Amino acid sequence: MNLRSSLASVCVMLAVALGAHAAPEAAKTPVPPPAKAVPKVVPAKPVPAPSKGKVVPPAPPMALIQTPQAFCQQAAGRLPNVPMALCAQAQLQTNGAKSVQGHALMQRDVISPNAHLRVLVIGGVHGDELSSTSLVLHWIRAATETPSNIHWRFVPLVNPDGMLLASPKRTNARGVDLNRNFPTPNWDKEAPQYWSKRTKNDPRRYPGPKPLSEPESKWLFDEMERWKPDLIVSVHAPYGVLDFDGPTSPPQKLGRLYLDQVGIFPGSLGNYGGVHKKMPVVTIELPSAIRTPQEAEIRQMWLDLLRWTAERLGAN
Ligand SMILES: [Zn+2]
Repeated sequence: MNLRSSLASVCVMLAVALGAHAAPEAAKTPVPPPAKAVPKVVPAKPVPAPSKGKVVPPAPPMALIQTPQAFCQQAAGRLPNVPMALCAQAQLQTNGAKSVQGHALMQRDVISPNAHLRVLVIGGVHGDELSSTSLVLHWIRAATETPSNIHWRFVPLVNPDGMLLASPKRTNARGVDLNRNFPTPNWDKEAPQYWSKRTKNDPRRYPGPKPLSEPESKWLFDEMERWKPDLIVSVHAPYGVLDFDGPTSPPQKLGRLYLDQVGIFPGSLGNYGGVHKKMPVVTIELPSAIRTPQEAEIRQMWLDLLRWTAERLGAN
């Protein structure tokens, strides 16, 4: 396929995916009412919705997630293919970071004996990509069952403010696309320009007022500085491909997802981490935002990730 036709097919894919990704899909998602037995109800900080001259009534107060138990009560009800037992087994802990609204970010470290590689696996950077958080929870279990020489750090939900809404949304509570908020060179010029010219000011892709303006992206930036992962795996949906940025050879496939490097965006994690910090970033785009792959596929993707990590980064 030549470059032009391949670009055209990518555009068609994007158009289809974006269409399928907006409000109608969210409307189809069965979102049960919040669990009643929330141990400690702390009202979330109200964040005023952007208003265009009319008065927008404040959203009803939502229980703030401060504990892994509260996280699982919310997650098990609304995420696809996440039974309470799977979430509980994940043994999440708070990591000290908080979202704009004050939800605690959760993480789980799985440390193999003689671990000499650090791999950070994140999901839910975009709040309407529910399957990404589900996949990370499944992979926590896989990591506890598969030997490797890796120190895994899993953060299943980077954008709780977006995902825990009755109608989950891509951006965080301040309407920022966290995956456009990283400090790539020349961000001040390129990110706003890309947003206005290429996305026509799409509110789902607003890069924010400045790089790292949001606590969620700032946490990830700081984590990269502090923990210095050898690899970041960032799970998204629904384009059904694998993307890669960084200095080594990319994985050709994970399960049924094949490598298709579609390009880089100002302010994206792949651009910042992979291209500028030389920290490899595997971006997984699951085929559906509201359904996880089958169990066998989740497992195959995991095994392929392990094999590639061992071959390319010397995990074993
Ligand atoms: Zn995404």
